[in-house]
Amino acid sequence: MSRASVVVVGGGISGLAAAWELTGGADGPSDATPRVELVEANARLGGALATTTFAGRPIDLGADGFLARRPEATTLVRELGWEDRLEAIAASGASLWLRGSLYEIPTGLALGVPTSSAQLKTLRGLSWRARLHARRDELLPKRLHVGDDATIGEIVRAKLGDELAYQFIEPMVGGIQAGRIDELSAKSVFPALLAAAHRGGSLMKAMRPQATVNPGPSAPAVSGAPMFYSLRSGVGSLPEELARQLGERGVVLRTDVRVTALRRSPAGDYPWEVDTATTTTPADALVLATPAAVTGHLLGHVDPALDALRGVASAGAAMVTFCLARSQIELPEHGTGVLVPLATMWSGEGSMMVTAITFLDRKWPHLHREEDVVVRAHVGRIDDPRWVTMNDEELTQRVADELRVLLARFGQPSETLVQRWPHGLPQYYVGHDQLVAAAKAAGAPLRIALAGSAYDGVGVPASIGSGRRAAREALAFLPT
Ligand SMILES: Cc1cc2nc3c(=O)[nH]c(=O)nc-3n(C[C@H](O)[C@H](O)[C@H](O)COP(=O)(O)OP(=O)(O)OC[C@H]3O[C@@H](n4cnc5c(N)ncnc54)[C@H](O)[C@@H]3O)c2cc1C
Repeated sequence: MSRASVVVVGGGISGLAAAWELTGGADGPSDATPRVELVEANARLGGALATTTFAGRPIDLGADGFLARRPEATTLVRELGWEDRLEAIAASGASLWLRGSLYEIPTGLALGVPTSSAQLKTLRGLSWRARLHARRDELLPKRLHVGDDATIGEIVRAKLGDELAYQFIEPMVGGIQAGRIDELSAKSVFPALLAAAHRGGSLMKAMRPQATVNPGPSAPAVSGAPMFYSLRSGVGSLPEELARQLGERGVVLRTDVRVTALRRSPAGDYPWEVDTATTTTPADALVLATPAAVTGHLLGHVDPALDALRGVASAGAAMVTFCLARSQIELPEHGTGVLVPLATMWSGEGSMMVTAITFLDRKWPHLHREEDVVVRAHVGRIDDPRWVTMNDEELTQRVADELRVLLARFGQPSETLVQRWPHGLPQYYVGHDQLVAAAKAAGAPLRIALAGSAYDGVGVPASIGSGRRAAREALAFLPT
C-alpha cells in the first residue's frame, strides 16, 4: 500500500503546529507517519509571527508574546528544546487615556471588566455618571435577559452604561481582536461575561470569580507565575525553528507557492488533489490552516457550510515602532503600555488613530538597553482602516504626532519601522460558534480538518492548539 499523504495549506503557526503533530509531536515520526507537505503562499513561513532586527534588537513585527496560562505555546517551545529561550514578562499593568490624561488601570479586574465600583475611584477621567452606573450595578442591578448569545456591547452597555463600556471595557476587550464590542460575540470571545449575564443580578459581582490576582503595576517584575512569555530571539523565531525541525522530519515545506484549487479526485487512490500554479499533489486528507475567507473560497464548492467561511470578517492593523534616545521620551512610571478608547478626539484631524502603545523594552528584558527606548504604536480596527490609504511616511508622522499628545514627552525618533497586517485578526460575531461547528462537521466526512485563529480562539497558544487538534483529526481520517 502506498504511504498516506496529508497536505497542510497555510504556513502560519497553526499550519506549522499541525505539521508537527502530524509527524508525531513530541515523540517524532514513526512508521505510521504520513507524507506531509505544507504549502505557504508567502516567501516566509510564520504568518502573523515574524521577527526583524530593529535598533540592534530582535523586534517582533506581529505577536510579541503569548499568554502563559494557556499551555499550548509553552508546551511546543519545550518540545522543540527551546525552554531556555522562554522569557517572562518583566512588568505588569497599563494606563488608560481618559479625557486628556493617563490613569493607571486598577487591579482586580476580570478580563477588563471592573468587579467593584471602588476600583474606579482613581479614574478621575470618568464622569460621575459612569461611576453612578457602576455603583447602581452593585446596589440595584438592571435586569437583562440574554439568550444563547449576545454581543459583548449589549451586555456591558445595558449593565454598566455606555461610558464604561466604550471608554473602559472596549479598549481592553475589543483591542485583542481589533474589533468592536457591539459586534463581537460574548459566547465566542468572552464566555465568562455571558455566564455572568445569565446568572443575573450585579454583573460586576458575578464577574468576581474571574478576577485575576494581579500583582499590580508597581509590584516587582515577576512574582510566581508570569502572565505572558516571549522568546529571547523573538516570537517570530518560533516558526523558524519549528520549520527547521519539520524539515529534519522530512516534511516538504513549500514557500512562495499559493494553493489555487482543491479538487476531489474523480478516481484513483487519493480522494483529493491540491493544485498550485505548477503542481498537483494527491492527498488522503487536508488540513486547511488558511484564513477563514481563503478556506471558504477554496472549499466553497464542496459544501455550503464551508462556503459560509467566506463571511468571517477580519480586521487589519498596522504597527509603527519607534526607537528614541532615553532623553527624548517620558513614559508613565509603571506598566507595559497605554490603551486609547476609540473615537478619542484630539487637536489634530479626526479622532485619534492610535489604539494602544506598547513599551516593548519594558515588557521584555532582552530588548532593554540603557541608552534608548523602543515603543510600538498600534493603529487600525475593523471599522477604522484609515492607515490603509496612508503611505509609511504619512502614517509614521501621524502616529508620532498622536504620541506627542499621549505621552509626557516624545521627541525625535532615531529609527522607525512600519508593519502592516491587512487581514490579521478574525472577528467572532454572534453565531460564530454555529458557523464554525457547521463548517467542521461538513469537512470531517470529506477528510478536511480546519485549523487557525478563526476557529478555536485568537492568539498564539489557541492557534497552536487548533493546528494540533486539526492534525489529530486528519490522522484519524487516514486509511488504516
Ligand atoms: C498585529 C498582530 C498582533 C498580534 N499580537 C498577538 C500577541 O501579542 N499575542 C498573541 O497570542 N497573539 C497575537 N496575535 C494573534 C496571533 O498572531 C494569531 O492568532 C496567529 O498567529 C494566527 O496564526 P494562523 O496560523 O492561524 O494564521 P496566519 O498567521 O494568518 O497564517 C495563515 C497563513 O496562510 C497563508 N495562506 C493564505 N492563503 C493561502 C493559499 N491560498 N495558499 C497557501 N497559503 C496561504 C498565509 O500567507 C499565512 O501565512 C496578533 C496578530 C496580529 C495580526
